[in-house]
Amino acid sequence: MPLGAIPGLHHVTAICGAPQANLDFYAGRLGQRLVKKTVNFDAPDTYHLYYGDAAGTPGTIMTFFPFADAGPGRVGSGMASAVAYAVSKRAFDLWMDRLARDTADFDGPAERFGQRLLVLRDPDGAPVELVESGAASGEALDGFHSVTLWERDPEPTARLLVDLFGYAEAGRESCEGVERLRFEAPGGGRAATIDIMRSDAPAIRRSGAGTIHHVAFRAENDAVQRGWHDRLATAGFDVTPVIDRQYFNAIYFREPGGVLFEIATDPPGFATDEPAETMGQALMLPPKYEGMRDRIERVLPPLRPAKDP
Ligand code: ZN
Repeated sequence: MPLGAIPGLHHVTAICGAPQANLDFYAGRLGQRLVKKTVNFDAPDTYHLYYGDAAGTPGTIMTFFPFADAGPGRVGSGMASAVAYAVSKRAFDLWMDRLARDTADFDGPAERFGQRLLVLRDPDGAPVELVESGAASGEALDGFHSVTLWERDPEPTARLLVDLFGYAEAGRESCEGVERLRFEAPGGGRAATIDIMRSDAPAIRRSGAGTIHHVAFRAENDAVQRGWHDRLATAGFDVTPVIDRQYFNAIYFREPGGVLFEIATDPPGFATDEPAETMGQALMLPPKYEGMRDRIERVLPPLRPAKDP
């Protein structure tokens, strides 16, 4: 059976500083739901916070590792440089009104590939783009629009997206001397866009607060993910074995430009270990850390619910 294409993004994971400021911004100001409060499975003395739509749908999930001593990061080539949310025309106009009234730091409105764009900054200085999309509806953020990768040479990454993932090149444009290449997953559904920004400007990149750690794409189920694992290995990528992340299974590899990519399964999802209605309220731990719960809860900073926007 021929393998299908990647349908779009599953989640994006970034590094942040203080978790309360992060929660107040993403759940409060941006109106996302904290769909999971858990720990970093590789460092259980730090949180792993997941934000998304009410159901925690793949393609809406932004996650953070709040590292108290992360220090500010610096974006450079070989990193994902920005995440963009899709908003309806009505929502875009509401954001314009809101930003005109308050003191928030933002850029725009600008235009990119014919779509209006606003750029907010989160508490760690990471850009959060709002893109007006005809496919978006309602007044809330409507999941991801795209992720931008910053590459010195976009072509090898473009080949991965087109030849392996099944994406199609959807346009090129230049802004202030920086070329941007756009790619779309087949079907053009939610979170289907990847932009590659070509820049060989010298930059000292440093992973840290305010930078994106990895970009995860969707696999519909475990069998599809196994197919991707084999196909990537055959293509010469150093891909990890399947890792159980409790809410999805994950495989990881570096794309040719250096960005860490993941392919994550849609199932089981975030309601697998607590009721959908109350997701995000209690600290959830994977079984291997339940025995350490007291110790973990003592070292994690307490979090209060996000302030209303
Ligand atoms: Zn991930």
